[in-house]
Order: sequence, then C-alpha cells, then structure tokens
Amino acid sequence: MARYIGAVCRLCRRQGEKLFLKGTKCQTEKCAASKRAYPPGQHGQGRRQKLSNYGTQLKEKQKVKRIYGVLERQFRKYFEVASKTKGVTGKVLLQLLERRLDNVVFRLGLGISRAQARQIVRHNLIAVNSRRVNIPSFLVDKDDVIEIKAKDKAKIKIKDNLELSKDRTVPSWLEFNGAQMKGKVIRLPEKNDIQQPIQEQLIVELYSK
Ligand code: SF4
Repeated sequence: MARYIGAVCRLCRRQGEKLFLKGTKCQTEKCAASKRAYPPGQHGQGRRQKLSNYGTQLKEKQKVKRIYGVLERQFRKYFEVASKTKGVTGKVLLQLLERRLDNVVFRLGLGISRAQARQIVRHNLIAVNSRRVNIPSFLVDKDDVIEIKAKDKAKIKIKDNLELSKDRTVPSWLEFNGAQMKGKVIRLPEKNDIQQPIQEQLIVELYSK
C-alpha cells in the first residue's frame, strides 16, 4: 500500500494552509506553515500567480488527498465508487474517506494524527467487531465496534495519545467509551462532520472534465 513518505509540513506549505497533518504537534509555534507562509523550494518566495479554474480544482483535490493521506490511484477509485453510488457524488466521496479505519482511529483520539493512526492499524492493534483489521482503508459501517487489541506497551502509548488528544471532540457520528477504549459507529458521517473546510464540488468538476 503506497503512501507519501516525504516531509509532511511541505505539503501544508505547498497547499498554502495548515492541514494539521501532525495532529496535536500542529498547535505549537513551530508549525512550518505559520513560520514560513510561502511555498517550499528555491522559488517559493517568488511572485504568486493567480490560479485558473483548473488550478483551483486541482488544489482542492490535492488538499483532500493530503488530509486523508491517500495517493492519486486510490483517490480516483473512491471517486469512481462515489459517482456510482446513490446520492451527491462529492458528499459520498467525503463520506468514503471519513469512513476509513485509520481516520476513525484518529477521530476517536487513539492516534494523534491520521498518519499515526494508520500505523496503529498497520501494526494490527485494532479490532472491528472483535476481529483484528490491519487495513487502513477498511471502511467502517453503522454499528461497527472499534477496539484496541494491544499488549501493555502499545496500550500505554495509545493511552498517551488519548491524553494528548483530549481537547479534540469525538464527532457525533462516533461514540467513545474511554474506560473500555472502545468506539462505535452510531451513524454514517455527513459533510458537516468533517473538520476542515472542503469544497468537494471542485473535485467533482475536475474529474468530470
Ligand atoms: Fe502542517 Fe502541522 Fe506541519 Fe504546521 S506543523 S505545517 S499544520 S503538518
């Protein structure tokens, strides 16, 4: 399963906004997107060109891919599934991304960032409905129960993550029992449940050309 392995702060600087890819670490004054609010690279501080329509659509797509840590091929597949599914394509696309298991682990506060949550899943520390799942792109469904299946050391690390994430609220489509370290999907996510502002119609326009 391919993933981006470069410097993540560059992605925010390239995007021109904070994407919070390092989770709680992004709240510190060390944030590169705040300290150097211009694109990375030698000519980053040069004159900025006004974006065309296509450029704006492309930028929005890149933003969503970067937030969820998904590469082009997989993102395209999500779009194809969304366009064949009943409902508004852009909204279904966001719902599919939000239902990813790595995202759910992050949203429950078990990981401080989506990247870390992905690692937790890959390390086989998560069970869905009592069965271990180590596929970050696994899609959760209504009534699914997500729990930790870790030995002591890993469990302590995940508890630390919960402590670090305590200021983040669990979205209303999920329920979390801190004592049991168990989450449940109450309903499927909607556009309003997504933390960052996303103009999904721009992505639909881009792929519909
Ligand atoms: Fe982005 Fe976080 Fe890095 Fe800031 S600290 S540039 S928000 S990943």
